[in-house]
Amino acid sequence: MPSFVDKARIHLHAGKGGDGAVAFHREKYIAAGGPDGGDGGRGGSIVFLPDDNMTTLMDFRYKRKYTAPDGANGHGKRCAGKDGADLEVRVPRGTLIRDTESGSLMHDMSDGKPFVAARGGRGGWGNMHFATPTRQVPRFAKPGLPGEVRDVTLELKLLADVGLVGFPNVGKSTLLSVVSKAHPKIANYHFTTLYPNLGVVYADEGSSFVLADIPGIIEGASEGAGLGHDFLRHVERCRLLVHVVDASGSEGRDPVEDFTVINRELCEYEPALAERPQIVVANKCDIITDGGEALEKLRAHVEALGFPLLTMSAATHQGTAELIRLCAEKLSALPPIAPFEPDYVEPEPAPEGVEDVRIEHGEDGVWQLEGEWLKRVAATVNFSDYESRMFFDRCLRKAGIFDRLEELGIKDGETVCIYDLMFDFRY
Ligand code: GDP
Ligand code: MG
Repeated sequence: MPSFVDKARIHLHAGKGGDGAVAFHREKYIAAGGPDGGDGGRGGSIVFLPDDNMTTLMDFRYKRKYTAPDGANGHGKRCAGKDGADLEVRVPRGTLIRDTESGSLMHDMSDGKPFVAARGGRGGWGNMHFATPTRQVPRFAKPGLPGEVRDVTLELKLLADVGLVGFPNVGKSTLLSVVSKAHPKIANYHFTTLYPNLGVVYADEGSSFVLADIPGIIEGASEGAGLGHDFLRHVERCRLLVHVVDASGSEGRDPVEDFTVINRELCEYEPALAERPQIVVANKCDIITDGGEALEKLRAHVEALGFPLLTMSAATHQGTAELIRLCAEKLSALPPIAPFEPDYVEPEPAPEGVEDVRIEHGEDGVWQLEGEWLKRVAATVNFSDYESRMFFDRCLRKAGIFDRLEELGIKDGETVCIYDLMFDFRY
């Protein structure tokens, strides 16, 4: 299988947050200054940016690890550590970013917006935050939180308006080179096109569209033979297909059969693709040897199915202008390329202070829970109100408190005590 980079798996490591500082105010003649340790800086995030000048995921083949810098630690005198700079990673517009582990779609870069794929960790609080009337000399600070680490799979689905489909060697690359400034490889053997080539085609009256030359598909590709469906991924989003058929009979092919086989391939791969509007182009009309018999058969077949048929010779530029005109006309009536909807649900970060919740299993069998965060949440809850109790329940659940209780071995029906509130635990 020839190498063809349109999918790449990379590793992202966002920066760790800087640690908070433990420091005390020092000044001449002032005996015991208060805590003044500053906060750690935020770790750098990894941000994807769409780049219209990129058309492949080639770069990601050689560089697979992306690490954003850590945040700096806090200092004395209430100085916060510097934030780690975000790492910007450029990808072709139209790249899909998937979470490798779950396979779910995180983002479709065709919306043209930057996307944060791995968030840097929060900086830890310096000890200046921890002074209380009863604890005037806090000798601790918070460490910074780790940055997100994840594998993502980049998948490039080209954003071409028009996709060229057809058997190998029918003249697709030739057509693209004639109607656009793209320079695809053209040669008289099969599978010359290892990369999908994109070309911008300028139609009349200043309108333009993107045409993609998709390497050939062959019968049986759906079962894994040949280059097959890796390439078909690129036409999935085209709004219009141009189906090129060799009408010359020069390779002893039957145009009607070729046309049918390709359409069956499309349908097997993605039924929606087979329903995309198609313009059928009978190419190589300059070297017809059978007096046009095969061409007329193809015309009858195609038109009976309701597709328009144009005759062309890409090599001698005959009929190419008509094809461009028809493409532009059809496109103007078709809806724009639809971006994919993400199906990835970002796990919610634990609210600040949740790590500090203490759980004790007393001798009386009661589970005692304490902590500033709990106190804060409990203070907002009206325990005589059902809705409010449910809200509290959800908060605990989301913060992972129930998971921790279960890990510690709490049994069904045991009593949990959170400040003024007591309830029986139910799995
Ligand atoms: P693809 O595999 O569909 O991309 O086909 P290519 O564009 O690489 O063309 C395959 C061969 O057919 C090349 O040798 C081309 O020069 C030739 N070819 C393409 N279009 C025409 C045409 O209209 N007339 C003639 N005579 N040859 C053509
Ligand atoms: Mg080609």
